Amino acid sequence: MQLELLRTEVLRTANLLSQYGLVWMAGGTVCARDSQTGYVVVTPSGLPYEKLSPEDMVVTDIDMKPVEGKYRPSVALNLWTSLLRARPDLQAVVHTHSPYATAFAVAGQPIPVVTETMADWFGRSVSVTPYRSVDDPEFASLPVEILGEGFAVLLGNHGVITVGASLAHALERAVTLEEAAHTYVISKSIGTPCYLNDAQAMASFVYYFNQYGQRTTQSQE
Ligand SMILES: [Zn+2]
Repeated sequence: MQLELLRTEVLRTANLLSQYGLVWMAGGTVCARDSQTGYVVVTPSGLPYEKLSPEDMVVTDIDMKPVEGKYRPSVALNLWTSLLRARPDLQAVVHTHSPYATAFAVAGQPIPVVTETMADWFGRSVSVTPYRSVDDPEFASLPVEILGEGFAVLLGNHGVITVGASLAHALERAVTLEEAAHTYVISKSIGTPCYLNDAQAMASFVYYFNQYGQRTTQSQE
């Protein structure tokens, strides 16, 4: 994807996070890797998305060396680039403070696979890191370690990270995880939730990414 187009897509995704109620004002982050140059496009630090244009997105290389852009990048750029360095299969990272999923990050509780849709998009439960401040060396390393081969991780007392082979996939995972966390909380309030086991969750994930909808080989992860 051309860098100009990727800037537009990163900003469009950030605005959709607001529209879906997953972030407010300048909260959250969207970060994507350009497959041709390997450069990273990321939302700037502390600026409300609705006031930004694609040129306001920040471009760096994968080691955070500035390439283009007049603003400072997200303060957690080290974390986003660490995730992309560790996972060559990924091209996009979305970070939100969506309230139900973040409630589990505050409680230090993983989110089990509670719905079919969650199984389709994740294939496994979502774990939580211990809290680390942004200047702690483990702020970047712990989420990479705990994410492993998965597609989401909760940042202790902070928020949510979802990842994907495209911005669309990372965004859909952010929406899906919030929906699952919300449903899980409601289910806990009326009874004892049942979970999908590891085999059921992975079978659903494999089936979804091979059979469902209009997917092509290029869009699989
Ligand atoms: Zn945050």
